[in-house]
Amino acid sequence: MNELVISDRVLAWFAHHGRRGLPWQVLRTAYRVWVSEIMLQQTQVQTVLRYFPPFVERFPNVTALARADLDEVLRLWSGLGYYARARNLHRTARILVNEYDGNLPLDHERLQCLPGIGRSTAGAILALASDQRHPILDGNVKRVLCRHQAIEGWPGHARVTKHLWQLADEYTPHQHSVAEYTQGIMDLGSMVCTRVRPRCGACPLRADCRAHAQARVNDFPEARPRRGLPLRRTTFVVVRRPDGCVLLERRPTVGVWGGLWSFPECSSEKDAKDWCLRRFGQRPAVSLRLPLKRHRFSHFHLEISPIVLDIAAPQRCVMEVDSVLWYKGGESKIGGLPAPVAGLLNGLLPNS
Ligand code: SF4
Repeated sequence: MNELVISDRVLAWFAHHGRRGLPWQVLRTAYRVWVSEIMLQQTQVQTVLRYFPPFVERFPNVTALARADLDEVLRLWSGLGYYARARNLHRTARILVNEYDGNLPLDHERLQCLPGIGRSTAGAILALASDQRHPILDGNVKRVLCRHQAIEGWPGHARVTKHLWQLADEYTPHQHSVAEYTQGIMDLGSMVCTRVRPRCGACPLRADCRAHAQARVNDFPEARPRRGLPLRRTTFVVVRRPDGCVLLERRPTVGVWGGLWSFPECSSEKDAKDWCLRRFGQRPAVSLRLPLKRHRFSHFHLEISPIVLDIAAPQRCVMEVDSVLWYKGGESKIGGLPAPVAGLLNGLLPNS
């Protein structure tokens, strides 16, 4: 196989059909490329286009991001999901200020040691922001390579991953246009070699694509070996005061929905009432049982039973000021909210 021919074909395709004029391409700095690459992990470009501009307007550089409260960062991330990305972005910004004068190190080894930046993201940042030659292997690129070479096995297996990195390295041009090629191969995966119904007729790699030649395009990449995701259950306790405010608590920064604002949780309705008695000195009746909600995490499903407990104005209520608040909706100051919490607030508080 002539690898230069592959990169040349990707470059020629990119020149006519690739994405151009994206906000992080127009004003291309290492900081903006980094933020965009983190947002684009597991998220489509169309979605990122809604989140990127307000994020970089509020945090135009590493220093501004490092100085911000995590709460505010999470608020601007709300709805984008995978909140560990936002927490790592914030942590990394602080490391950059403390150890690198507020700049991203343009060095692959150092870059991939920073929180949230793996080998592929480090390669993409360096290729796109400073035209350094590094292969990348995000989900889109894996799909193109697996199909082009008809690679058997789940890409998450170490043996397959190693093979894919070798191919990614071979395909990356040596002499020139690394930034264009990197953007081009990612675009090819997301625009042509799509997960469902790839447009092989428009693909520059079709002539020697093995999956296409074997009419097995849908067999690659192989799916992760199936293990049914476990189901966990929880009860969201929506404590409501007579003025309509509901109680929210900030979750610990480590773990699921770390640092986001959510409802208190109990294991059952009875526990919820006991908890209310301990916390507020009153045992309310359940005012409302809301429909069950299901939320899918990468490693489990969560089944949520939301109940609304109306309480009289609390006589006894120990508040840790930074991690508890009574929310009445329409307030811009609140931090990030997990999607099921935002959905419930929308239904309960018209101004949320
Ligand atoms: S020919 Fe089809 S399957 Fe092969 S790389 Fe192109 S779009 Fe993907």
